[in-house]
Amino acid sequence: MGDIAFHVDPSARIRELLGAFLPGSEIGSFVGGAVLAGTGETLDLTDPATGRVFASFRDAGAPVVDAAMAAAEKAQRAWAAMTASARGRVMFEIARLIRQNEEAIAELECRSAGRPIRDVRGEAGRVADMFDYYGGWCDKLHGEVIPVPSSHLNYTRHDPLGVVVQITPWNAPLFTGGWQIAPAIAAGNGVVIKPSELTPLATLVLGVLCERAGAPKGLVNVLAGGGTTTGQAAISHDKTALVVFVGSEGAGSAIAQSAARNIVPCILELGGKSGNIVFPDADLDRAILGAQSAIFGGAGQSCVAGSRLLVHRSIHAEFVEKFARATSRIPVGSPLNETTQIGPINNLRQWSKIDEMVRRSLGDGAELALGGAKPADLEDSGGYFYAPTILDGVKPTQEIAQQEVFGPVVAVTPFEDEDEAIRLANGTVYGLAGAVWTRDVGRAHRVAHGVRAGTFWINGYKTINVMSPFGGFGRSGYGRSSGREGLLAYTATKSVWVETAADPAVAFGYSAD
Ligand code: NAD
Repeated sequence: MGDIAFHVDPSARIRELLGAFLPGSEIGSFVGGAVLAGTGETLDLTDPATGRVFASFRDAGAPVVDAAMAAAEKAQRAWAAMTASARGRVMFEIARLIRQNEEAIAELECRSAGRPIRDVRGEAGRVADMFDYYGGWCDKLHGEVIPVPSSHLNYTRHDPLGVVVQITPWNAPLFTGGWQIAPAIAAGNGVVIKPSELTPLATLVLGVLCERAGAPKGLVNVLAGGGTTTGQAAISHDKTALVVFVGSEGAGSAIAQSAARNIVPCILELGGKSGNIVFPDADLDRAILGAQSAIFGGAGQSCVAGSRLLVHRSIHAEFVEKFARATSRIPVGSPLNETTQIGPINNLRQWSKIDEMVRRSLGDGAELALGGAKPADLEDSGGYFYAPTILDGVKPTQEIAQQEVFGPVVAVTPFEDEDEAIRLANGTVYGLAGAVWTRDVGRAHRVAHGVRAGTFWINGYKTINVMSPFGGFGRSGYGRSSGREGLLAYTATKSVWVETAADPAVAFGYSAD
């Protein structure tokens, strides 16, 4: 495990990084091209690797939300009036600026959100790719002509919705910000995004870069503030045309109810309890690496985490033993260390939730194969580290097999045959992701089709790309992000009827033809 010593005061370094983007390196909301101080209570930002508060800011509150909505509405009109190709060029410039600032953005995300530097460095490039991909869509998003049985020319347009509100969580703020901002503006909308109050910095930088690239001031506004305060004010605002939420099930339900009261549609990307299924004929070495990446990447703070490992009974004991041995060698430590693969949990509340769930699972009969506590060599760090944890012999009905942990904890359950594997994989209220490891092509596809999940991998895990649709079944949410579907979700289809007859009959009421 690694050391967690910082070589410079993290707050000074963060101020310096932020100063490259925000005037005075003040933390406030980025609204209409300016930084606005919040009006609500003071919120602290804590370094997850040390447990020390490194900055404070005031919750945006309703007056800042009002300003953001007005700025987005005005900018959206200007944006929609530009040619589609010109909008695409601005998006390519956003991508270029992200790449140009890749190191600083990665360091900011690493220091403020506690994410390993090797993960976030690659991620900044992937966020740039999102703006390139959707920039390319700007002048290819067109409707169709429908061969209606009358003298009309009937065609469709994919119109922007207006101002969209996006609310994102703390686990991957940079990635999730790009994932939602890029399709929203490609479709011609204005954006008001509220990242988690625990990790607003990378999203603020994205907002600033959008403006520097030539987007109208106020096209992308970033609210620094809390969920029940600033977030709810944005959802309930009369200018809001769509709410896109990425986060937990409980908050998702509250947000969907507020959006419904405002008669605003909602897309929900919620949590999961994804099953990672291993058959005896799989390449077991690769399956072990895959199982590690599935649950320990991002310290398990990933919505698609493979948090249930379903292993065929004939290989179960040997597989768990090798998996535990290999996992004990994964470097855990300071997110700034180039070798660190597992950084801290983002916050103390989440750390405690993880630990309590692990304790309860042991009380319920699970066997601890690895981990189950803060790593001993990081005990004095003050950071929220949790050792990669493998719980074996987990009964499918146990809490740890049913509820999302959102930490580096995997529940292992053996299965007898293909039918049972699919039944177990489908045995929760969630349906976000899953995987199967096997060399049998027919079985791979049968399992992929049988498991109820928005994303499924065969002999792999965790690959997602902005080009491919993403979303959940069941309590993992509804609606799709990314790909063409994710773009269309940010539009409303309009049907235009043009009379072409020289002497048209004027119908009284609906006309069938
Ligand atoms: P969270 O639901 O507590 O918070 C997410 C966001 O919602 C934050 O910005 C928060 O301020 C805001 N919020 C919370 N309550 C609110 C309310 N009542 N009204 C308005 N806004 C509110 O989630 P989290 O703890 O930040 O993130 C972890 C959760 O996110 C996990 O459940 C994880 O699975 C989920 N997640 C899902 C995806 C996905 O794409 N499906 C991706 C990442 C994370």
